[in-house]
Amino acid sequence: MTKTILFNLTQPEIEKFITDMGQPRFRAKQISEWLNRGAPDFSVMKNLPEDLRNKLSEIAETLPVKIVKKLESSDNQTTKFLLELNDFEQIECVLMRTTYGNSVCVSSQAGCAMGCKFCASTLLGLKRNLTINEMFAQILVAQWELRGDRLKDIHPNGDPNNNDVSHIVVMGTGEPLQNTQNVIGFLERANKELNISWRRITISTCGIVPGIEELNQWGRPINLAISLHAPVDDLRSQIMPINNKWKLNEVLNAAFNFSETHNRQLMIEYILLGKKDENGETYLYNCTPEYAEKLSDLMRGHNVMVNLIPWNSVDERDFASISGNAVHRFQDILIKNGIHTRIRRERGADIGSACGQLRLKNAKNANI
Ligand code: SF4
Repeated sequence: MTKTILFNLTQPEIEKFITDMGQPRFRAKQISEWLNRGAPDFSVMKNLPEDLRNKLSEIAETLPVKIVKKLESSDNQTTKFLLELNDFEQIECVLMRTTYGNSVCVSSQAGCAMGCKFCASTLLGLKRNLTINEMFAQILVAQWELRGDRLKDIHPNGDPNNNDVSHIVVMGTGEPLQNTQNVIGFLERANKELNISWRRITISTCGIVPGIEELNQWGRPINLAISLHAPVDDLRSQIMPINNKWKLNEVLNAAFNFSETHNRQLMIEYILLGKKDENGETYLYNCTPEYAEKLSDLMRGHNVMVNLIPWNSVDERDFASISGNAVHRFQDILIKNGIHTRIRRERGADIGSACGQLRLKNAKNANI
């Protein structure tokens, strides 16, 4: 029997569901409060009678996502979730506890069609777009992880938001601008219902130009991140097939336009990739000094922050990690050229934090 997902119902529909079970109407309100806190199942709903909780478990689910696996990094700062949707597709979602708040990296699609050569998420292709509820539920999973059944905690340092999700990055599995309207619907809801300000929301795209223009029209002052990863078209087309459709200058023009219109600093994501030669020696692939100069030329005069991301190894991908010195040499050239840049600290490397790794591993284990 297919179970009803209560989170997908409207309040009147939940009321009907509950009263059809012969229960009083006020139970529907109690259940909705639990759903909005991210209750993973009915057993946690302590203010419901046990027989009702048991009955609900037989015929319904709480959220449209279920935790299949949860991995905690050794420093306890990063939690990675492998989640299953009700059609058994799997996605990933990551909670990062940082000094500036609790950030959730949300997936926007099951799989991805973009085919970036360094990415595990695309290896199984695109399965489907996620719904607004499926994206919102990822935030609730993280919220539950942070504070469980407590409504709000007062942290010892007096920060009442300590146990709230404060930042959203739409940077998980999938290309958000292939699912733009649902992503917009999800973010409107997160802003309204969870009070997450636009300035704490980031959408990352590999460079879907019409999608960037759509975001511009939407008019919310969010942060835009461009996965650039190469400063010249030839190289970029080799590692990101989307570059055959929209070239670097088209992507950057649309992105600079967005950043100027909304007065937001543009984020540029740049994975530093090495390769192995025939002797097994690592050489610099997209991060030679020449490419650092070319990247500087593209960025000069614009309000940008270049995030340098040392390659997080994915077994199935033909790249190699470069040394810390090489990372710093690349960064030094950008800094010398007056470009704001930082090295993104690897978070949760011990739990396979590269996008799509956990999902891929699980699919392989299941021989999917
Ligand atoms: S990097 Fe992003 S856009 Fe590219 S294949 Fe991976 S998930 Fe898709």
